Amino acid sequence: MKIAKTKAEVREGTNGRDVGFVPTMGALHAGHLSLVGESRSRGLFTAVSIFVNPTQFNNPEDLLKYPVDLDRDCEMLRSAGCDLVFIPERDEMYPPGQDEAPFLHDFGDLETRFEGHYRPGHFRGVGQVVHKLFEIVAPQWAFFGEKDFQQLQVIRRLVEIIGMPCEIVGMPTIREKDGLALSSRNRRLEETDRQTALILYRALEYAKESIGKAALHEIRAQVERMFQDERGAELEYFDMIDAQTFVPIQSFDDQVETRGIIAAYVGGVRLIDNMALL
Ligand code: AMP
Repeated sequence: MKIAKTKAEVREGTNGRDVGFVPTMGALHAGHLSLVGESRSRGLFTAVSIFVNPTQFNNPEDLLKYPVDLDRDCEMLRSAGCDLVFIPERDEMYPPGQDEAPFLHDFGDLETRFEGHYRPGHFRGVGQVVHKLFEIVAPQWAFFGEKDFQQLQVIRRLVEIIGMPCEIVGMPTIREKDGLALSSRNRRLEETDRQTALILYRALEYAKESIGKAALHEIRAQVERMFQDERGAELEYFDMIDAQTFVPIQSFDDQVETRGIIAAYVGGVRLIDNMALL
């Protein structure tokens, strides 16, 4: 596995190959490796990036606390059969003086609803860094997790806007046995919070069982009650949305691809999850 620190090293390593790309922020787990595995199983030269992108953090403390474990990450990637890992310094991605360069893409409603609403500027930061990474790596395929479902839709929109000939592949969320979605942030959960964190999954499962049976307002109210009854968990949002537009559904329609989406703080750690409801 080649370790590249500069754009030039990446271009040299990927040149002339069919590239499958997996962008990450490191602190890797089986969710990330499932994306690497999918790229490998398609016979692609598999490139992974590890870069904790400062422009997508609206909360500076969250950026400071983001776990970093590069030696372990590289070992995991090597074992998973990754061909190249790109680990740039900040200046390589954002040359001094260009940090504030305006980002012109407009993702419309997708960037202002839910995650976009609670994390202003987040998706512009994501779009900015993924655009830069796509230009450097020039992949024909890129793999993203449904765990960050709104991000996946933003990236699909991004490639449309920039006209990049890259196929975006969305992959299912990998969970612990008890249902907790794998996340680098789970490392920051205390043992008791780890149990409490299951409430996100329970709420989504409840919505999945109830949709088409209970009224939508009743499902929304019941999820709120679940959180009121749970100590140490604070609901930020829960809703049932049209998966393409992120507009909350007003009535049950089995012809509309519907997702339950949820964000909550558990022990001070912000967690998100989502699930196909139909
Ligand atoms: P991150 O390092 O958190 O930016 O995530 C990098 C990629 O891994 C993104 O496409 C995520 O959606 C994906 N990912 C994160 N957690 C999971 C998971 N539990 N299952 C599948 N993919 C995931």
